[in-house]
Amino acid sequence: MEILQNVPLKPLTTFKIGGPAEYFCAPETKEDISKALQFAKEKSISVFVLGGGSNMLISDRGIMGLVLSPSPKGIAKIQEDNDSVIIEVAAGENWDKFVQYVIQQGWWGIENLSYIPGNAGTFAVQNVGAYGQEASEVVTQVEAYDTQTDSIVVIANEDCGFYYRHSIFNTSAKGRYIILRTRLRLGKLPKPNLTYPDLLKKFGAEATPSLSEIRNAVIEIRNKKYPFPVEAVGGNAGSFFQHPLISPELENRLRKNIQTNFPEEVQKRFAEEEQKFKSRKTGLKISAFLIDICGLKGLQVGGAKINENQPLVVLNMGTATSSDVMELAREVREEVYAKTGVPIPIEPELVGFTTTEINDYLNLGE
Ligand SMILES: Cc1cc2nc3c(=O)[nH]c(=O)nc-3n(C[C@H](O)[C@H](O)[C@H](O)COP(=O)(O)OP(=O)(O)OC[C@H]3O[C@@H](n4cnc5c(N)ncnc54)[C@H](O)[C@@H]3O)c2cc1C
Repeated sequence: MEILQNVPLKPLTTFKIGGPAEYFCAPETKEDISKALQFAKEKSISVFVLGGGSNMLISDRGIMGLVLSPSPKGIAKIQEDNDSVIIEVAAGENWDKFVQYVIQQGWWGIENLSYIPGNAGTFAVQNVGAYGQEASEVVTQVEAYDTQTDSIVVIANEDCGFYYRHSIFNTSAKGRYIILRTRLRLGKLPKPNLTYPDLLKKFGAEATPSLSEIRNAVIEIRNKKYPFPVEAVGGNAGSFFQHPLISPELENRLRKNIQTNFPEEVQKRFAEEEQKFKSRKTGLKISAFLIDICGLKGLQVGGAKINENQPLVVLNMGTATSSDVMELAREVREEVYAKTGVPIPIEPELVGFTTTEINDYLNLGE
């Protein structure tokens, strides 16, 4: 394994934004990782783990230190009984190609997670979820390199600390484990999960669609909302804005602000939103609505633009810099906060920025 210098990171992210890595390597084995970590130790530089680069915004300056991109490959069947299989996928495999493979085998459990960019190694890190399915429901264990003990460890599902889009790997133990392989238990008997409203609408409650029909429906729905980052277009990082946690106090403040600052038609739409989410018991998923009523769909700063179809997504129109994206985020968050009182969190990890830069862009003075 070679350790390269000054490697452009832009092409290794789905946003297609960011400067170079000071050093870069793509280890495939435990020995490669040991060697890379030893190199970083000798040079007293930091180590950053990069997967498919689909959940991050890298600074235009790039990343100082060593960027380590775990690249073991392979898919293996570990165990099989009448109703299920245990399948192991290596961290460097592309997630969606793995989903395609699993669907071809006729195995159930991750079909609703079709068409999500990124590497299989990040599935457990992010507790990836969509359309009613989530990593925590299928992961049985991960095999990881423990950077504290320089050894390979196996971490069982119950020790992964899974909750919404989180695990120990991106919270309490962030940076400690480098995931090399993930095992999933998948079903052999048809078990369509059509609980998500868009899928329910597409198939109806009584339907029994096949794995391929579900995958195609998910792709069709996603294509309308999330432009899948391909080489030809600029790129994006999926949902750039997150839904905030709305406490009863915040909801009251929001309701008051909607009554004071918005026309009757918006007040009616807000009442409908409240009703919709009350009946679903999922909390108020409100960010896209707030960006919309503040008239920010299509807002553009330099080469970065708020997507018209799904305003949670920031599009790189081809020439966006990280400063364009952060300036756009600042404008959106400040406008929404001023008019509604709701601070909208952002989703991607900000890499290579200083704390002062992040505070300057994102501090709302709450
Ligand atoms: C168009 C689009 C749609 C998306 N839709 C969804 C969605 O529906 N649901 C969803 O959950 N996410 C979604 N995402 C976000 C993203 O695709 C997922 O979170 C994905 O799992 C990130 O994988 P990655 O390999 O690109 O991770 P990266 O962005 O490279 O890394 C994410 C984090 O994981 C760490 N990491 C990476 N690899 C490893 C490893 N092997 N071991 C330990 N740590 C590691 C990194 O250090 C970083 O902190 C979407 C993104 C895009 C661009």
